Formats: sequence, C-alpha cells, structure tokens
Amino acid sequence: MTKGELKERWETILDQLYSDIERIKVDNFFRPLTPVKISESKNIIYLITAGANSSFYQNMINNYKKSLDKACEKVMGKVYTMEVVDNEPTEDSDEPVPEDSSYGFNPRYTFDTFVSGPNNQLALAACLAIADKGYAKEYNPLFIYSGPGLGKTHLMHAVGQYVKKNFPKKKVMYVSSEAFTNELIKAIREKSQEAFRNKYRKVDLLLFDDVQFISGKESTQEEVFHTFETLYNSRKQIIFTSDKPPKDLEGIPERLQSRFSWGLPAEIQPPGYETRVAILNNIATLSGVEVTPVVSEVLEVIAQNVTSNIREIEGAFNRVNAMSKLTNTEISKDLAKRVLTDIFDTPKTKEITPENIKKAVAKYYGIKVADMESGNRSRNIGYPRQIAIYIIRENTNYSLPQIGKLFGGRDHTTIRHSYEKMCEEIKTDKDLRSAVENILATLEE
Ligand code: ADP
Ligand code: MG
Repeated sequence: MTKGELKERWETILDQLYSDIERIKVDNFFRPLTPVKISESKNIIYLITAGANSSFYQNMINNYKKSLDKACEKVMGKVYTMEVVDNEPTEDSDEPVPEDSSYGFNPRYTFDTFVSGPNNQLALAACLAIADKGYAKEYNPLFIYSGPGLGKTHLMHAVGQYVKKNFPKKKVMYVSSEAFTNELIKAIREKSQEAFRNKYRKVDLLLFDDVQFISGKESTQEEVFHTFETLYNSRKQIIFTSDKPPKDLEGIPERLQSRFSWGLPAEIQPPGYETRVAILNNIATLSGVEVTPVVSEVLEVIAQNVTSNIREIEGAFNRVNAMSKLTNTEISKDLAKRVLTDIFDTPKTKEITPENIKKAVAKYYGIKVADMESGNRSRNIGYPRQIAIYIIRENTNYSLPQIGKLFGGRDHTTIRHSYEKMCEEIKTDKDLRSAVENILATLEE
C-alpha cells in the first residue's frame, strides 16, 4: 500500500468515526494525525503528529479504541493497532518484507489458516476454484454472504494473496464499500474520475468487501454497476461480500441485485461445534500454545459458550492466553472462567422445555430451529434433529405424536425410529454422548 493510499484509508476511517463519536472530537483528537507506515507483520499503523505531543494523541487513541477498531475493521478489513510515534519509523530488520510477501493483504488470512467446515464449504470451494486459475467463469461474480465475523474478509484476502503470488502479472484490487465511496467522492471533487475508473476497471481480480454499504448511495452504485459491466464483459473475476443475500439488499437497485446473483451466491453459516473446536485448535497452535488436554478442555468450554462469531471466539481465546502470559499461570478452565466472566455469566436458558432444547441443539450445531422443523433431510440437519428428538423424549413428558408436531408434523413412527436409533447409538458413540451432555449443560447451568 502506498502512503497516499494509506492516507486515504485513514481518512475513510475518520469519516466512519463520525457515526460513533462527536465530530468535534474526531477533528481534534484524530485528524491531526498522519499515517506514515503500515506494518502487516506487526499489525500496526504508525501515525505522527506535527507537534511533539504524541502521548496525548496516543491516549485518545486508547480511550476510543473500541470505536477506532470498529471503523478500522470496516475500512481495512481487519483491526490494526494505532501507534503514535515521534518520528517516522525506519525500515527495521525484523520486518519480513511484508508488502512484498503479502501484497498489502493480511498475511494471516490465507487458505492455510482457514478451517473448513460444513458451514463454509461452498464459499471455500468457490474461492479455491477462483484462486486456482485466477478466474472461474461459472463463479463470476462470486457473492459471499454471512453474519459478521464468519470469515468473508479472510477468504477474500486468501484469494487475493494466492492469485498475486501465483499469477504475478495479474492485477488484484481489494476495496471496501467505504474506501470505494470515499475515493469516488474525492475523484469527483478533484475531477480525476478517469484515473479512478481506470484503477478499478483495469484489474483482473476485484475484491469488493461489504457491498451492503453502497445501499442508498446512488453515485457509488452507478460506479459499481459500470465497473461490474466492464470487468464481467472482459472476463475478469469479481468477488463481493455482503451481510445479506443479493435479493435482501435494500436500497440497492434491482439491476445490481440481479447481477450479484449471476455467478454463485454462497452463504457462510455460523460454524457448528466441531468446526468451532477445530478453529480454536488452529488459533491456539498459531499463537504458539501447545494444546494439552487441559488446554483442550478450555477450548471446548469456549466453543460451547461463544457460538455465532469467530472474531469473538478468537477474542475469548486471546484474552485467556494474554492473562496466562501476564500472570505467568498456565491456561486452565479456572483461569478461563475468571477471565471470561462476561461470557460465562450470561444467563442461560434454564427451563428444559422442548422449545429450549430445540434452540440449544440448533445453536450447538450452528443451524436454524426452522431447519430442524423442515423436511430437510441432509445429514447436517437430520442428525441434530434426531438428537433434539432424543433429548426431548428423555427429558420431557412429551408423547411421540406431540414430538412429531414439534418437528413440522412428522409421523410418530418416524419419531420413534429416530429416538430408538439414538438410544442405540449413544451406547457406543462417545462423541454423541458428549454432544448430548454439552447441550444439556447449556440448559441446566
Ligand atoms: P467477516 O469478514 O465475515 O466479518 P472475518 O473474515 O473478518 O469475518 O473473520 C473474523 C475472524 O475470524 C478473522 O480473524 C478470521 O481469521 C477468523 N475466521 C473466520 N472464519 C475462519 C475459519 N473458517 N477458519 C479460521 N479462522 C477464521
Ligand atoms: Mg469483513
């Protein structure tokens, strides 16, 4: 990333802050800072001030860390530490030439560090197919959508880095809605639209993050539309991410919505329990923590309690790990409970009712209650459904026909079959037993 680009991103971050912090504060605490360097390996953006009062500004940055992190994540695709320095840092030797090796992408966001699971299979497969050749006609555009913190930006960076590395001649461009919009506004103001257009319409791979934020912004939409047309017609790959499927994007014109669906819309769902544990194992290993049986237990506890956002799962682990290092104590369940009181103290659904059981099972497997009630017979739905039936039968007085009603009006013989099958399996299947225990634990505590 050039200094000019970094400056532009920083200004976009500050514009974002207006929605969170009073304007007068943003202008006085943060505007006086100029970014001079970004370190991908250390995850730091270095800022300098005109006067010699860096500690004042550093304090402000620390005070507003939450809001800054949020804005930074939106614009940069991830959180950077903001460090105010008196002098522009010189090239340091421990910096493993990040700009060259990761091309401005987060070096941690690669395919190697991405854990696959039934929840992200399709999106991952499509990304790999695109990365393989730099272009995949049948997946153009690829439209990845999901709730927050489920790996959309990670996958985009993975494709970007892979293509850059394996096809050095290909031009790859990553941009978020905010950065795109701000650059466009600036281009209009400075009458440099031609350069702006060339920048985005002459690439081989365009990675457009969080496209939902172009909602209601007409000139941005117009520009996205023409960029899309140019790239698509010249057989260039486009990947979008969004928090919703194309048809649910309000404030975005129909012609764009329909183009978003021309290739492959792929949803990433919240990860199921096994995937959450696998991700945690990965995070621990990447942080240099040996996964001993005790650590493994801690990971399981985290996976049981933090379910819908991988960023939060990582956050929970990092907090425990940081505390362990800080106090020089080994990671243990006890330590985790002390550090993660906010997570563990959230009131649990107490009553063991069929509705709560269904909810607990759905949450555990990262699926929707409605899926279990539907006719969907795929294994990733059917198996949790059987478990829910088993737990309800064992823990409530509901009759087989009544349970049938709870699952979209299934016949009582079907319910009996599921129940008996589970009764058999649980005798020999250790994983199933622990799954049932874990689910009940979330209800009983
Ligand atoms: P999104 O863009 O969907 O909000 P991110 O890509 O920023 O989510 O992911 C949030 C965090 O979770 C990142 O640190 C990312 O590395 C991690 N993460 C998400 N999905 C996975 C996965 N399948 N395997 C490993 N890490 C993941
Ligand atoms: Mg993202």
